[in-house]
Amino acid sequence: MARKFFVGGNWKCNGTAEEVKKIVNTLNEAQVPSQDVVEVVVSPPYVFLPMVKSILRPDFYVAAQNCWVKKGGAFTGEVSAEMLVNLEIPWVILGHSERRALLNETNEFVGDKVAYALAQGLKVIACVGETLEQRESGSTMDVVAAQTKAIADRVSNWSNVVIAYEPVWAIGTGKVASPAQAQEVHDELRKWLAKNVSADVAATTRIIYGGSVNGGNCKELGGQADVDGFLVGGASLKPEFIDIIKAAEVKKSA
Ligand code: PEP
Repeated sequence: MARKFFVGGNWKCNGTAEEVKKIVNTLNEAQVPSQDVVEVVVSPPYVFLPMVKSILRPDFYVAAQNCWVKKGGAFTGEVSAEMLVNLEIPWVILGHSERRALLNETNEFVGDKVAYALAQGLKVIACVGETLEQRESGSTMDVVAAQTKAIADRVSNWSNVVIAYEPVWAIGTGKVASPAQAQEVHDELRKWLAKNVSADVAATTRIIYGGSVNGGNCKELGGQADVDGFLVGGASLKPEFIDIIKAAEVKKSA
């Protein structure tokens, strides 16, 4: 089964209501490949999720940027998976490196969150990736495998999981992994899934790349055999996000 190209836009902690409406208007007016070719998911901050969902074109979907690890209750400041389901928010990003680094989310905690969100019926964009120090010490694959294992240990059905490989050194830095560097890790990750989960999960799970993707580098990155799309930060707030969505065409013609 072919893996449908996936383009996610992570708006992080940015925007006013007016700015968010402007971004949505740009997306709504854009000519992009059809849903058979590309799945587009944008992730506004929590407070804007209902508004974005209500005004966004119906062929694009929304994602939350995080959710709580278990059922809601006395967890001040958190938002539960059940609440997202209640608001018909289909996707959630979990394990983003900013949360791993700034909020000390461990591999196990992220694995628990992924399992809980999936069990509630959410689809998950699960982020993994190494720091520069880890890459330079040659431990990229060990790090990414350990992050993925913490998810694999807790999840049996991968059909609603997209893995985002996001090297930390490439996030928000303007330093993008070369197409060969991205392909190498995606290929290794797919082999890891084949060996440790199943051949079917390895063949069907989308592994998307994130880290300074922009309108200029997306086609070459997207043309790599094991790059099934992108998670885009900074450029997802700009009109060039449309060009990144259009990069899905490289797979169609491949
Ligand atoms: C991200 O935060 O998921 C990301 C990939 O950011 P950027 O595209 O800005 O590097």
